[in-house]
Amino acid sequence: MLNGKTALVTGASKGIGRAIALRLAAEGAAVAVNYNGSAEKAEAVVREIEEAGGKAIAIKCNVADFSETEAMVAETVEKLGRLDILVNNAGITKDGLLMRMSEEDFEKVIDTNLKGAFNCIRHASKYMIKQRCGRIINISSVSGVMGNAGQANYSASKAGIIGLTKSAARELSSRGITVNALAPGFIETDMTDALADKIKAAVTEQIPLKRFGKPEDIANAAAFLSEDAAGYITGQVICIDGGMAM
Ligand code: NAP
Repeated sequence: MLNGKTALVTGASKGIGRAIALRLAAEGAAVAVNYNGSAEKAEAVVREIEEAGGKAIAIKCNVADFSETEAMVAETVEKLGRLDILVNNAGITKDGLLMRMSEEDFEKVIDTNLKGAFNCIRHASKYMIKQRCGRIINISSVSGVMGNAGQANYSASKAGIIGLTKSAARELSSRGITVNALAPGFIETDMTDALADKIKAAVTEQIPLKRFGKPEDIANAAAFLSEDAAGYITGQVICIDGGMAM
């Protein structure tokens, strides 16, 4: 149970982030639901949590922006009282073959996916260090573990998340803070819905369990890593991918 704990989940208006926010709230945590686009979906997540008897707030912030993330973390602490769990989930894709990839598409993906996680860790760890406890969970990807043709920018950002996770785990362990990464395989969200049916079928063939995962599969692992029972796990990359990257 996460009663009395507070969590900030980035990119929690839909997909995997939404499932993680709902799950942490169901375990008793008060949750800050971050989004960057329109407020509607994030506010729907907040309502769903409140209707189930939980506590949540929505915060608009572009995680790629250093000072916006500083303000988001401060607002979370001000409104929820403390910060125990940070889930760096916000992410985007801008796929294309390396030979044709624009500088802008490379930078945008690195800025959101990798620098965004750094920004949030940088500001959240200040509070966690003072509390002498905390849980940081970074969402990487099977693409960061294995690489993926057409995703040089995305794979680099997700492999970068793994290095960031291990370095942060080493730096913050003496303050009682654990840092781990989850590496989802192909999960049913808007991000994978955009793939052509032919590609979905080819990918499914490569998955030993022969199906895409659900956002709840990732939320289950995030909830476990947030629990006291997971206090001796740090610096790890847990693949949740139907066996794809084994
Ligand atoms: P999604 O459905 O497209 O949702 C992405 C979320 O990120 C949205 O809530 C979006 O909010 C938010 N976001 C995007 N840019 C942001 C920014 N600059 N600042 C703050 N929030 C931002 O994606 P998903 O499939 O759930 O993926 C979630 C995470 O899992 C990503 O890091 C992704 O790389 C990773 N992942 C997904 C899969 C998969 O198969 N789906 C596999 C491996 C890893 P707004 O709409 O409000 O901007």
